[in-house]
Amino acid sequence: MQKKEETKQFIRAPIVTFMGHVDHGKTSLLDAIRHTSVQAKEYGGITQHIGACSIEYNDNPITFVDTPGHSAFTQMRARGGKVADIVVLVVAADQGVQPQTKEAISHARAAKASIIVAINKVDLPGADAEKVKQQLAQENILVEAWGGDIVAVEVSATTRQNLEGLLDAILVTAELLELKANPSDELEAVIIESKKDPKQGVLVNSVLRNGTLSLGDEITASGLSAKVKRIMDEKGNGITEATPTMPVSIMGFNEAPNVGDLILQKGSELAELALDADKVEIVGTNSKNMISIIIKTDTKGTLEAVKESLADMVTSSVGNTYSLKFVHTATGPVTDSDILLAQSVDGVVLGFNVAVANSAKQLSQSLKIPVKTYKTIYDLIDEAQDLLAWTAEKDEEKIKGRAEILKLFKLPSGDIVAGSKVLAGRFMENSPIAVYDKNPADLTLEDVPLFRSRIKKLKIGNNDEKSVSKGKECGIMLKPQIEELSPGMYLEVIG
Ligand code: GDP
Repeated sequence: MQKKEETKQFIRAPIVTFMGHVDHGKTSLLDAIRHTSVQAKEYGGITQHIGACSIEYNDNPITFVDTPGHSAFTQMRARGGKVADIVVLVVAADQGVQPQTKEAISHARAAKASIIVAINKVDLPGADAEKVKQQLAQENILVEAWGGDIVAVEVSATTRQNLEGLLDAILVTAELLELKANPSDELEAVIIESKKDPKQGVLVNSVLRNGTLSLGDEITASGLSAKVKRIMDEKGNGITEATPTMPVSIMGFNEAPNVGDLILQKGSELAELALDADKVEIVGTNSKNMISIIIKTDTKGTLEAVKESLADMVTSSVGNTYSLKFVHTATGPVTDSDILLAQSVDGVVLGFNVAVANSAKQLSQSLKIPVKTYKTIYDLIDEAQDLLAWTAEKDEEKIKGRAEILKLFKLPSGDIVAGSKVLAGRFMENSPIAVYDKNPADLTLEDVPLFRSRIKKLKIGNNDEKSVSKGKECGIMLKPQIEELSPGMYLEVIG
């Protein structure tokens, strides 16, 4: 991999996808945008369907990926291929927020994509954009008119009303994201479609996020290797080279790799990391304090010894305080990609008898990623214990507020008070909260909140409190009130 300081990063086009409830107009909006931007003579049906397209709007390129469907979207994310930088949440103005709208919000949030709201079908008589905004506020999607910072545009795919407004919103959001790529970096392309065609063989459609893909390149994806035989652009033309963020169709694989996986240069550092992803090991059983670590050592033998010592340390630690997730373990110096990986998993890097590359040192400082190197196992165990305890504490600091409901009281006024214990963070008047039926520390991606609300009042004894911190018991009143609360549920501050 080239050193970051030697290469120049370029602003790249945003990769955008539409999500939302079925029939709210995702496909129609994308079609309308394609027609608007592609000159009629170019359009005329020649465009191949490759699951993504690149358009120019006011001289700015934007790449759209066809709606992947929510589970495919999550699958892509789980495999490390973040598909979209920006999710356009499409809500039909006549129907408002529906179950799949809520699902789309959870998925977009989990993927850390920026959200823009497109309130579609405003041409219909029953359209009520204000009501949609209010419903979105209940999902904690606060648009600008509701004091939030999420952009909402009112559009119609049918009458093409305000499509420019939507495209402007995409460009403004993209500018804030400062999306960068570099054609001379290592290749990184996300697979958006992958199929075996009886005539053409395996066709892999993907969008380049970084680097360059050239004819003849040796590439790998999903553990499969290939030599690139043919690259086609979205018009079906053969090309010799693709750069960020072009959508392309690639031929050369013998078997179809998985949708959502990354296509990487064979033998590159990123490719080795991807191979490693299947070998992630976890020691310990404490799923609440899971610490991701990356270990680099001088020899394979030391690597095993270090892993074993750390595993012993975890299993013999008093009170089962944390578990370790060995995200990447390998021999060799600590490099930039180790730091980037640690950043993506919020982890730490431990080196044993190895050097830290200068660029990696600088990167770790600028990204504030803890990197520690040791010479003996004793030093490692001594210090690692502290480092890991610190990481576990740091994780807890990220929780804004979490409480368990112990008892419920109904006041004569009809108000419900949830007698709760604050387990972490702090609760404040007016904070938005989500209600779960299990400890939020154990949530998986599939878990969605049972309800959302806001804190109306906090009480300790008879006194009103503005805020209640960790360890204290208090009475919590919500607005809107939730009749279905029960002891054993958890409240999590979400804003
Ligand atoms: P998707 O399932 O979200 O992709 O929704 P589609 O794009 O397939 O649209 C569903 C239906 O709504 C189709 O019959 C469209 O013609 C219609 N539709 C989409 N956008 C609009 C719009 O802006 N106004 C009106 N009146 N109908 C629309």
